[in-house]
Amino acid sequence: FDRMKEQTGIELNESQQQAVLHTEGPLLLLASPGSGKTTTLNMKIAYLLFEKRVSPDRIMAVTFSKASARDMSRRFDDYFSGWSDERVSFSTIHSFAYKVVREFMSREKIPYQLIEGGGNKGRLANGLPLHKTFILKKVYEDVNGAQPTEEEMDDLMSFISLVKNRMLEGKELEKVSCQAKNAPEVFKAYESFKQTEAEVTLLDFDDMLTFGHEILRENEEMLKKYQERFDYVLTDESQDNSVVQHEIVEMLAAPDNNICLVADDDQSIFGWRGAEVDKLLQFEKTYPDATVLTMTENYRSSQEIVHVANRFIKRNVDRYEKEMTTPNESQEAVDIHTFQNDEKQLDYVVGQIREKRGEEEVAVLYRNHSSVIPLVDQLDRAGIDFYMKDSEAKFFKHWIVEDILNFLRFSYNDSRIDILEKIHTKFNAYISKKQMTLLKNRQTDGSLFDQLLNLDIQEYQKKAIPKAKQTFRDINGMAPDQAIITIREKLGYDRVLRKMVDNFGFRADQLFGTLDVLIRIAGSCDSLKDFAFRLRELEELVKSAHSRESSLTLTTFHSAKGLEFDSVYMIDLVDGIIPSNDDIEDYRDGERETMEEAARLFYVGMTRARSRLELLTYHYLGNERVKESTFVHNVRAITGTKKTNHKEKENKVDTSSFEGMDPGTPIIHKTFGRGTLMEYSGDLIVIHFEDVGYKELLLETCVERGLLSKEKQEA
Ligand code: ATP
Ligand code: MG
Repeated sequence: FDRMKEQTGIELNESQQQAVLHTEGPLLLLASPGSGKTTTLNMKIAYLLFEKRVSPDRIMAVTFSKASARDMSRRFDDYFSGWSDERVSFSTIHSFAYKVVREFMSREKIPYQLIEGGGNKGRLANGLPLHKTFILKKVYEDVNGAQPTEEEMDDLMSFISLVKNRMLEGKELEKVSCQAKNAPEVFKAYESFKQTEAEVTLLDFDDMLTFGHEILRENEEMLKKYQERFDYVLTDESQDNSVVQHEIVEMLAAPDNNICLVADDDQSIFGWRGAEVDKLLQFEKTYPDATVLTMTENYRSSQEIVHVANRFIKRNVDRYEKEMTTPNESQEAVDIHTFQNDEKQLDYVVGQIREKRGEEEVAVLYRNHSSVIPLVDQLDRAGIDFYMKDSEAKFFKHWIVEDILNFLRFSYNDSRIDILEKIHTKFNAYISKKQMTLLKNRQTDGSLFDQLLNLDIQEYQKKAIPKAKQTFRDINGMAPDQAIITIREKLGYDRVLRKMVDNFGFRADQLFGTLDVLIRIAGSCDSLKDFAFRLRELEELVKSAHSRESSLTLTTFHSAKGLEFDSVYMIDLVDGIIPSNDDIEDYRDGERETMEEAARLFYVGMTRARSRLELLTYHYLGNERVKESTFVHNVRAITGTKKTNHKEKENKVDTSSFEGMDPGTPIIHKTFGRGTLMEYSGDLIVIHFEDVGYKELLLETCVERGLLSKEKQEA
């Protein structure tokens, strides 16, 4: 340990040392954020290599994602590259499983093809591309005799992933909620399609895990080979492993069971993808001789941040109770800023970053991918470079972006039939398919609107068409943001989208969110051409920012896991974003799982910060009035910060003795009995009652009627 300290500057504490030395037999290291889990794993690997002289290829170090495997490997190199260039491979369970699949398929001479993750090659005889979404759509249609909505497709994808990752079978499938019609049947049909319909076996992303698992289970010889190949199995971020992943790891580690799982149940954020924290709790059942160590001392963050995060996560019911502490100094208070709108928030963030440029590591964390595009735009205009953890180029490929560009193109030149073809159903001139065919056959030049007027048109079109023509001409002279607003409002694009939401199950928040982002970008462009050009430029920028280095990182909460920064700005903290509308809805329906996962995500975000943590929220998102995130509200209750420009209520009832209570405080209600305070939101309080579950109550009324009392703590 002395040599390690000399090399890395880190002096391991007692439990960390214990974990490092515990190399033989099963070990579960259950620990808080910043408590040195990843550090300890790295030290342990070094101990195995340099002290116990274990050969690097006998160690299997896995973690959740390729990105975190890279982060971990980089950290290891930072620490120990001086000692030797022996390299342990850090990888994911997924890529290991894929290796097993490849080996098996080539040994058995079974041809196969991947249908997910780029490079979708080949088609069936009927032209169907061998790609997951196409296949799933087709199978859905076969089963249900109708097309799936976008929402159903999203849900179906998650359903399949969840079923496979949790290894559910038969009746268990019925218990998983899924909005897609007959999801279990569609799933079965999808599975059999991949086995039988093409000339080769088709494999999606999750299949690599399920197949890999099956192969190891059924081929003793192959399993033995891999078991003998590795003497030590270590996994970081194990709280995000799914059942099938856990089982693969367990099989590999047998029979010696030199297995080390490192995890934090409070940071489990991939439940929707089948992660199973319960598996961790069963560790001692699986391995009766297991050692379980906990570490709760956070070396990363300031006292203020650790205090707030520790109190915050207690709002969750489904967790191991632990108290996170820190030996670190007190620094700045956790800051909450409320802005008038999202635009003001953006100005603030850019201003802050400009001030700090290069002096420290800064991260901006966001929940939704599209949130970052306006920020990218403004940072670039301010000449600030940045690194992006996720590749966000997908935004620019959305059909809404294409639609808007086509509207603009048509406004320059309304004689282009190829453009009209793409948008004629999307604005209020009500042009029919038949009219489009007639137009195409005429092959004359000049405004297509004028040509339409010469056709046999409907009565209402006689007014609508000249009006649309004029609007398009007007758009041509407008500022870009005004142009988009005109498309939405005057040309009826919003109404079309609304219909798509109602009739075809598109997601309203996604569609209108995309438009809001476009308007935001358009706001800083001088002309329509400038705007179109800017979009392409941003797309390139986003692509290149993904493979760049910078002291400024932009990332989603999910991808920030395991990382740390001096300053962290969490943006867009409003209800509907984090927690999401779905989380809120589930919660109202009495399901707390997704809300708790959202809280863990928020917690992951907060615990990334070393010295400074700022939570940013606003009153208006575009034109829409929004509410500060419930989670920010919780933090206020902890830090005692009042909302700024908050209207004082003229209530006569004094509710003050119930305000500022921590989530987790025991409460007694005269009607509902014993419960635990979950949150405040506005005038409402949410209590989880032992007998009747969740209730949202009006605080004022409860107090007025004397229904509430705090439960006396045992003296
Ligand atoms: P997370 O849950 O976020 O992944 P973690 O438990 O993996 O966190 P690490 O990233 O390993 O935590 O460590 C957090 C920070 O604390 C790092 O900067 C690391 O160098 C430092 N650290 C870890 N252990 C010690 C120690 N014993 N003394 C001083 N610093 C430490
Ligand atoms: Mg870690």
